Amino acid sequence: MKLFDVYPLFDINIVKGKGCNVWDENETKYLDLYGGHAVISIGHSHPHYVKMISDQVSKLGFYSNSVINKLQQQVATRLGIISGYDDYSLFLINTGAEANENALKLASFHNQRTRILSFSKSFHGRTSLAVEATDNPKIIAPINANGHTTYLPLNDIEAVKAELIKKDVCAVIIEGIQGVGGIKIPADSFLKELRKECTATGTILILDEIQSGYGRSGKFFAHQYADIKADIVTMAKGIGNGFPMGGILISPMFKPVYGMLGTTFGGNHLACTAALAVLDVIEEEGLVENAARVGTYLIDKLKTYRQIKEVRGRGLIIGIEFEKPIKEFRSKLLFEQKVFTGISGANVIRLLPPLCLSMDEANEFLTRFEKVLNEK
Ligand code: PLP
Repeated sequence: MKLFDVYPLFDINIVKGKGCNVWDENETKYLDLYGGHAVISIGHSHPHYVKMISDQVSKLGFYSNSVINKLQQQVATRLGIISGYDDYSLFLINTGAEANENALKLASFHNQRTRILSFSKSFHGRTSLAVEATDNPKIIAPINANGHTTYLPLNDIEAVKAELIKKDVCAVIIEGIQGVGGIKIPADSFLKELRKECTATGTILILDEIQSGYGRSGKFFAHQYADIKADIVTMAKGIGNGFPMGGILISPMFKPVYGMLGTTFGGNHLACTAALAVLDVIEEEGLVENAARVGTYLIDKLKTYRQIKEVRGRGLIIGIEFEKPIKEFRSKLLFEQKVFTGISGANVIRLLPPLCLSMDEANEFLTRFEKVLNEK
């Protein structure tokens, strides 16, 4: 059987990782400035993470959500403290798409509405509701074109007000920082206004922090720069450092009912152990602060290169926009300089390194980046 061919793949087989480096099967070492789509938060194969998962799997990998799993409560308590959302509740699932699906479901249970507001160039995963902005008509499924979702320009509060006033919008879903859409940051003033308008119209505000959250922006959640609270925060990627896991933080205004949400695998023993190991390392190694410090350094340095049109980002979620397509530039970074990076559209290089990226590694990246930049 062959694999369903939906990913454009580089011909590189990564077999090993350590910190911010990965190695292929020929022992070639790469600097990882992409962290597997922002998934690697504490670094590849962190010894504490490896030990905790190994110990747990030797005892118990999985039991069902029909019995108490005290590890889930430990994750909830720790997460509440580190995120500043300690009066919220936690529901655990497995992926980002699942986190957003559950958030939308919860929102519509709450206010019995069905319309969703989202923003152009946003990306919220492969969900059944139309919350995925793409310019490619071939990948908009009919079920995603059913009129549930209205896309508005980011930062246009008047456009938002004009929709919310109708009082038929169930939820507004917005990324803390747009990732796939090119590292676009919602203005702090826009988020503040959005919060106010959602409250005034009974609309649920969902902050998708799946890519921008978990310390990556230099705050635990990117929307915390605007000093607002969401009604629901969705998380995945960095929460398990590669162990598939997602979660939603739920405001106390939502009252749980048995059977309202549910999952087979969500919050299993191994996933919770991975999450606890990640939280240990984030705290012990000060990785949120590190993301802020190294990220600011990188952004400031990148802004000095005249060949670059614009650098956007906060902490270690960074978009480097060029005037022209960057496909060849990125290939050179990978094959000549042995640096993994990502893209956002045709002209933007996207950096999402592990949050433990050191100053030395940031400088090493800049040296290699400059080499490609200065090639004729
Ligand atoms: N939301 C955002 C902002 C994302 O960046 C992604 C994935 O890239 C998702 C949702 C979907 O997450 P997953 O691929 O785990 O379903």
